[in-house]
Amino acid sequence: MKTIYLDNNATTKVADEVLEAMLPYFNQFYGNPSSMHTFGGQIGQRIRDAREQVAALLGALPEEIVFTSCGTESDNTAIYSALLTRPDKKHIVISRVEHPAVRALCTHLSAQGYKITELPVDKNGMLDLEHLEKSLTPDTAIVSLMWANNETGVIFPVEEAAKLTHDKGVLFHTDAVQAVGKIPINMKNNVIDMLSISGHKLHAPKGIGVLYIRRGTKFSPFLIGGHQEKGRRGGTENTAGIIGLGRACQLAANHILTENVHVKQLRDKLERELLKKIPQSRVNGDIQNRLPNTTNISFEYVEGEAILLLMNELGICASSGSACTSGSLQPSHVLRAMGVPFTMAHGSIRFSLSVYNTEEEVDFVIEKMPPIIERLRGMSPFWSQAQQACTNQ
Ligand code: PLP
Repeated sequence: MKTIYLDNNATTKVADEVLEAMLPYFNQFYGNPSSMHTFGGQIGQRIRDAREQVAALLGALPEEIVFTSCGTESDNTAIYSALLTRPDKKHIVISRVEHPAVRALCTHLSAQGYKITELPVDKNGMLDLEHLEKSLTPDTAIVSLMWANNETGVIFPVEEAAKLTHDKGVLFHTDAVQAVGKIPINMKNNVIDMLSISGHKLHAPKGIGVLYIRRGTKFSPFLIGGHQEKGRRGGTENTAGIIGLGRACQLAANHILTENVHVKQLRDKLERELLKKIPQSRVNGDIQNRLPNTTNISFEYVEGEAILLLMNELGICASSGSACTSGSLQPSHVLRAMGVPFTMAHGSIRFSLSVYNTEEEVDFVIEKMPPIIERLRGMSPFWSQAQQACTNQ
């Protein structure tokens, strides 16, 4: 059975060009870049090249790029750094829809006495900057807001948010894990202090990330050890991962505009046809300010996990906006923050595409989804009650 992979916000395929660039660094050039000998030392140049490739995608300076192990490490490092460099400040501002890499850390910090403000979003998952402005106090150490949401694809106005935050003398970090490689980013055009990237979301492998730290930003490392990354992140470099991420960023920089037109066309076709063919379905999230590859669609009166199981039988991979926690199905914190009604939130599916998807794949999904939903609704007592209520009106 062919796999149709529409779960690219979870992780992506490593691009062939990326794999090819990485392979020699496992068993051919496996030296330690910190070694005195040429065999190891020569790898330093390749790491410098990769740093430049990442910097070029972001419009950043190479010295502003610090390699980490993942998006989660980058997010944690940024927030801890703010708290350590501003030890008198005990307040953090985030949004209600942040990824657990930020949200769970803040819950942990709250138990240690830090005050956390979670900014609300509207029914489209969008942030109101007025709430941000009101939340800032002389005690605020850092504001951390995601650039794009992993579940809905909604893009926050982080550049304006950073300006507003900076005007009050507060540090600004953005989790750009879902944004980098999907929308153009130029750090020369904003005042964002720190930004997180994860390699496996843009066709590089898992286990490599970046924290961008604007030149001049006071910084305290999270991993303390060797002098790697100029003392900003101890630990022997993941050379193959770094080289792979550099290549992935180069590919993204070369193709970001053309590829995203193709991906957006496929996403729009999928969304349009599913909404047309399946009654009582709707898109969650701001339609205008959204990543080109993501659509989050709710099918009322069915369970997301049941939909995923039937899709899985056909080789179609996607994600659901509800997760089984302690035996009960809970809609995601993102859909709850948006106030999506329960009957809708339970049946939400996130489709996230990539440049590797084809029109034939999208057509297959468009053909297979309506009978899946119809079959599940046929078994749903809530659906038959709702239909009955409609006919009685
Ligand atoms: N932030 C966002 C918005 C994400 O979507 C993810 C991963 O899903 C992360 C952070 C965590 O990244 P990583 O898996 O590299 O730790």
